[in-house]
Amino acid sequence: MTTKELAWKIRRHGIEMTHISAASHIGSVLSVADIIAVLYNDILNIDPKNPKKEDRDRFILSKGHAAASVYAALAEKGFFDVKELKTFYSDNSKFLGHISKEIDGVEFSSGSLGHGLPVAAGLSYVAKKENKPFYSYVVMGDGECDEGSVWEAALFAHHFKLDNLVAIIDYNKMQSLTTCEKTISLEPFGSKWKAFGWNVIECDGHNIEELKYSLSKDRSVKDKPTLVIANTVKGKGVSFMENNILWHYRYPHEGEEYDNALKELRAQKPDGCIDPYEVTK
Ligand SMILES: [Mg+2]
Repeated sequence: MTTKELAWKIRRHGIEMTHISAASHIGSVLSVADIIAVLYNDILNIDPKNPKKEDRDRFILSKGHAAASVYAALAEKGFFDVKELKTFYSDNSKFLGHISKEIDGVEFSSGSLGHGLPVAAGLSYVAKKENKPFYSYVVMGDGECDEGSVWEAALFAHHFKLDNLVAIIDYNKMQSLTTCEKTISLEPFGSKWKAFGWNVIECDGHNIEELKYSLSKDRSVKDKPTLVIANTVKGKGVSFMENNILWHYRYPHEGEEYDNALKELRAQKPDGCIDPYEVTK
């Protein structure tokens, strides 16, 4: 499967999962889909047949509310049956709305924001100390950077020279209720991370090739943790959801919303890509 296909399938599953469960957070899932696809298809050293292998890269989705994107990627990579995604956010399902480590391939449950970077930094610290080869990757939201624990971890990672740590910001410039600018201004964002001693890379968070290049271990700088600011659009791929804060919480309702979202996504389907819902229905 190409990375473009995986990104499309993450969006396709995201629409279906939030529609069936009548649950959020589709805007975030669509925003982060390309980043998650590149990580799972091109970057992370992981094995669906051996999810706990010792030298695996550790990945943490710190913005745990975008769980559907990672569940979809794990299913498509073979960690479990794609059909299980239909239970997302429903009673007695292990596929919780905020990401859960009960799922094969998930390292850490999150949801309360600002916890992913500290944990990833701790994992990278242990890897260095014990001379282990793995990297830790963490995807954070921009709004999440309002949390003080993010900046404590930024200090820690620099102090301990964690060049085996890569943090990625899904920089869609929006957070739960409005824009980041109106909530807590982050700019000049990259300069702040640079001042904390990080290797800062900025890229288009919807351009697969740029993401591959930016997230590659080859872009690490000795003794510095890496931060990738991935510029994204909240709701990317469905025009009426793009940059519209309504879709942080709203789900695609039966009728026009669901139908039009699918119509738009289907028009973007890569050649040769099979729609998983055409097969399983
Ligand atoms: Mg955001």
